[in-house]
Amino acid sequence: MTKALERELPTREEALQVLAGDDDLLKIVAAAYRVRREYFGRRVKLNTIINMKSGLCPEDCGYCSQRLGSTAEIMKYSWIDPTDAAQLASKAVQAGAKRVCLVASGRGPGDRDVRRIEGTIDAIKSEHPQVEICVCLGLLKDGQAEVLRDAGAHAYSHNLNTSEERYADICTTHTYADRVDTLERATKAGLSPCSGAIFGMGESDDDVVDLAFALRELDPDSVPINFLIPFEGTPLEGRWELTPERCVRILALFRFCFPDVEVRLAGGREIHLRGLQAVALHVANSIFLGDYLTSEGQPGTDDLQLIADAGFTVEGLNHPTLPTARHDLVTLRRRGAGTTTPPNA
Ligand code: SF4
Repeated sequence: MTKALERELPTREEALQVLAGDDDLLKIVAAAYRVRREYFGRRVKLNTIINMKSGLCPEDCGYCSQRLGSTAEIMKYSWIDPTDAAQLASKAVQAGAKRVCLVASGRGPGDRDVRRIEGTIDAIKSEHPQVEICVCLGLLKDGQAEVLRDAGAHAYSHNLNTSEERYADICTTHTYADRVDTLERATKAGLSPCSGAIFGMGESDDDVVDLAFALRELDPDSVPINFLIPFEGTPLEGRWELTPERCVRILALFRFCFPDVEVRLAGGREIHLRGLQAVALHVANSIFLGDYLTSEGQPGTDDLQLIADAGFTVEGLNHPTLPTARHDLVTLRRRGAGTTTPPNA
């Protein structure tokens, strides 16, 4: 915990201890909470997902209800209209959402898809100029991240999902390296990188630590932690290997690895954490409000009640999520030698 307060990465051994050591859960939560409180106080950031295009994906990610060959009885539709998306966004913003995540199924966007998202960002921003828009469209090609940035997107989301070693077990149509490449493109374009994981897919403790360490190398600003929703009709149906305690320990590990980064409690929160949702809020500083991509979450009003009951507050639109220090660590010299401005001494 002291290391996390100094933004230092735990050793592999320390990380493994968090997942499976002898320490009682509450001891770990208390340590993670001190880190959370240091950087995020008692604020909870709310995010909302809008599924712009659902199902019929040609990719075969094993955890996904929208994958090639999925027989999950999800809604399938092509692109929704920008004005419909803006209406959904407005509703969520009025309920406290600070970030709107525009997500579409598929391997990656065509240029026409990027233009649709431009129109959607426009429609949302004209009503809510301060809302953060995160776009999640799959693998990006040359120039697309820059177009999204110029259209007003704040962030791009692309999860690594599982460790490099296990990636081919969960997907064969694209690689871990493809995912890293997209995240790097987004970061390079100046979009805030968002990348996280899904747990409950048969990973070992070492896999969890590998992924946490690999993500840290990529320096994301937000890290969504999903717990597998085992949809019937997907290869991972019926897979219920997580316990609420395991979920909280995973979240705590990510808090220690990402002390000043938004750790978002994402899909599977209600079904896997169950009675420990409030405990998890002491570790994560961000959640999704309401429903997920293809499954329903608990009612948004219950989310708000959960936050209030646990003694936390919803982070306002004007409150920066990340500690400013994270972005202000490097200041380029513009004084002293080589300038006409006096040096700082
Ligand atoms: S996770 Fe994305 S790319 Fe993979 S199957 Fe689902 S929608 Fe397609």
